[in-house]
Amino acid sequence: MHDELKAHPDYFSKEIIQLADNVYMAFGFAASNVYMIVGDDSLVIIDTTETTQAASNILAEFRKISDLPVKSIILTHSHRDHVSGASVFAEDNAPQVITSAMGSEDPLIEETPHPRATRAMQARTKRQFGIGLSYPDEIIGIGVGPGDRPLQGMGAGMMEPTRLIAEDRTSLTLAGIDLELVMAPGETPDHMVVWYPEKKVLFSGDNFYRSFPNLYAIRGTSYRDFDTWADTMDLLIGFNPEVLGPGHTKPLFGAEVIRSTLGDYRDAIRHVVTETRNGMDAGLTIEQLAHSVKLPPDLAEKPHLREYYGSVAYAVRAYFVGTMGWFDGNPTSLGALSPADEAARMIRLAGGAEAVWREIESARGAGDFQWALQLLDRLIHADEDAARARAAKAAVLRDHAVSQINCPTRHYYIQSARELEQQLDDAGQ
Ligand SMILES: [Zn+2]
Repeated sequence: MHDELKAHPDYFSKEIIQLADNVYMAFGFAASNVYMIVGDDSLVIIDTTETTQAASNILAEFRKISDLPVKSIILTHSHRDHVSGASVFAEDNAPQVITSAMGSEDPLIEETPHPRATRAMQARTKRQFGIGLSYPDEIIGIGVGPGDRPLQGMGAGMMEPTRLIAEDRTSLTLAGIDLELVMAPGETPDHMVVWYPEKKVLFSGDNFYRSFPNLYAIRGTSYRDFDTWADTMDLLIGFNPEVLGPGHTKPLFGAEVIRSTLGDYRDAIRHVVTETRNGMDAGLTIEQLAHSVKLPPDLAEKPHLREYYGSVAYAVRAYFVGTMGWFDGNPTSLGALSPADEAARMIRLAGGAEAVWREIESARGAGDFQWALQLLDRLIHADEDAARARAAKAAVLRDHAVSQINCPTRHYYIQSARELEQQLDDAGQ
């Protein structure tokens, strides 16, 4: 396992963190954070986690601080790891549930007018988050949250919103507390941040967390507008917050720390956009850019820009596809051979399957796991020794996972290895 990830179980250990005299954060109990604001006669809850079990554990902690009923629940955005424990906090108090009017971009949450490949999305989601992987051997954390969190009641506590916010800025008084809800598109187009001006606390949702931003999620997402997300960082800085409560990872304290951290985030996104756009203008292809665009070292080393969750290479590809579509600009790509045809020809050119196996073994010995995977895929595509190649691919994926700093990538490798092992078991091989 990557050395930096070994520190994550400690970093994500459970804690109730006080952000202001009446503002508390439940940290480390779930993939995402939950906030409680204690008002005059009731509580305001911001975000609700991905499972009813985690929500129950958090409510029990909050109940040590206040007995007041929850009368308002604000959801910063529609991702399932923020909306799925609402009914637990509601108890029997019928709170108002306030969300952005924009609705979800995720077909697994909201029905789309036309069918989407939801089975593929479900399978990929399971791989990205390492759902069901064993802790701590296979999963140590999700990059922006703990690995040993409860999974019971996943998605079970969603509630219908009672109030939809459509305006850019909405002032409202909840439990005697003046709050502002401000549209802040970023990780999702429906993002809404919560500003508590009296205490100078900003709840940013997932527009900031301690990792390079997840500008593309490998579970399968449509284009997340990079420029808009960077613009939103300026919007957040403009509040001049003294406390920042993110949707994942620990809070930030101090106006100067927050300003510089959010500024780094904005600069990192803008850098990826500029470098990718300039490369596209210079005629470089998507894969050339995925390998050449890097963050400047001073940004890459910042703890809030390490690639625990988002990945620069995935972001570069997403910007290319999101703004230009799938065609990389190289005429060769327009009529590419089928994977099976290309693989059969390459194997023949290499001198046959046994020669390819020798190269695979030598790559594995040298720790060159990516090359081994690309060769194994050719054997699988050409249906040459495919069962043996699938078994070897599972083993190589597990080896390749060890050095990954990006948790979605790490989990995708391990979960895919498990699936291959299961298929081979089922086939009795
Ligand atoms: Zn989230």
